[in-house]
Amino acid sequence: MDILVIGGGGREHAIVWALSKSEKADKIYCAPGNAGIGQIAECVPIAVSEFEQLTAFALEKEIGLVVVGPDDPLADGIVDAFEAKDIPVFGPRKNAAEIEGSKTFMKDLLRKYSIPTAAYEKFDDYEQALVYLRSRTAPIVIKADGLAAGKGVTVAYTMEEAEAALRSMMLDKVFGDAGTQVVIEEFLEGQEMSILAFVDGETVRCMPAAQDHKPVYDEDKGPNTGGMGTYSPLPHIDQAIIDKAIETIVVPTAKAMVEEGRPFRGVLFAGLMISPDGTPKTVEFNARFGDPETQVVLPRLKTDLLEIFLAAVNGTLAELDIEWSDEAAVCVIQASGGYPASYPKGIVISGLTEVSKDESALVFHAGTAKNETGEWVTNGGRVLGIVGRGATIEEARAEAYAAAERIHFEGKHQRTDIAAKALV
Ligand code: AMP
Repeated sequence: MDILVIGGGGREHAIVWALSKSEKADKIYCAPGNAGIGQIAECVPIAVSEFEQLTAFALEKEIGLVVVGPDDPLADGIVDAFEAKDIPVFGPRKNAAEIEGSKTFMKDLLRKYSIPTAAYEKFDDYEQALVYLRSRTAPIVIKADGLAAGKGVTVAYTMEEAEAALRSMMLDKVFGDAGTQVVIEEFLEGQEMSILAFVDGETVRCMPAAQDHKPVYDEDKGPNTGGMGTYSPLPHIDQAIIDKAIETIVVPTAKAMVEEGRPFRGVLFAGLMISPDGTPKTVEFNARFGDPETQVVLPRLKTDLLEIFLAAVNGTLAELDIEWSDEAAVCVIQASGGYPASYPKGIVISGLTEVSKDESALVFHAGTAKNETGEWVTNGGRVLGIVGRGATIEEARAEAYAAAERIHFEGKHQRTDIAAKALV
């Protein structure tokens, strides 16, 4: 079967890598892909927003399965576009992707079905929002309703910060229409954890839990990024807490979506906060694989990923056994200097070819390209994800950092404390 993966980051590299191990997979295309993905798949220069071109390409190549990576095309209905042409596609329809595309939809759904989440109110009127905000105390969280490239959430530690965030979202429209409505939410204290699940509507098959590191600097300092590193499993979190999160949050949410007439088919990603007393609460839902959670979860998958995708599309996940290895995986993201603000591109990367050849560490490309002379160069904020594996987090972490140390580019930035929490 020929496959088309939509997207072009480290997540899609990991998906293509896992699919390429399937005996059922023939040719794999990736649109638009990136230079690293181009080593194992054929990159197709079509943007993820070009639904007509993408569906025409899939028809022309008789693609047997389309897999969608990023959030924006899902929220815009890319799955509906493929289904309209009878092309099998893994991912939620537009009405199910709304669980990520609209924070107010997600919060209202959880409230309606009594699924644990932070207390909140929603507003589309600035004055009313401000009156409510002033009745609360910091810390408090302000969220733009719509997708804002991961930047639509402000965790405000002072009321000044909170008011500034509200103003910039609702009056200055820094996120455009995404900030027309806002959610003002209770601040949750605790440890964060991500649980991703394959879902075919009714059946929920959870992947092993993972933890991300959003802030750009060590000790969670500095502005938030798309993610600076991940690890899985989480040895410092009780399995009973993970099971409770699945039982009280992930499974009931999938069920709620069915009851709402919006069955979720794809990867449902729960971002959770575990309170100091061990109670998991929902921070967010995403309607897709996480980036970089995927880079540590898929290397632990023993079952054929293509079989899982097909079972989800056909509604037969309940019949499939999904196996995971006990091995640990740690992903260290290498970013361009300046990220998440502005950064240069086209900086030559050394050591990459050698590491890809010599090490058992996996290298997933997020933002790379080849220059005219065939050298690897940087081409994005997040450049590479280096994944180490081992019997323990300690071993996996050592492998990831050893490989990462051999790769250089001017301005390279990586956190030095990925997975450190799991060692304590
Ligand atoms: P989101 O885009 O909703 O995942 O939010 C981005 C980040 O903001 C999360 O990963 C959390 O670290 C933080 N965050 C969001 N909501 C809350 C909350 N209610 N309490 C504390 N932190 C939060």
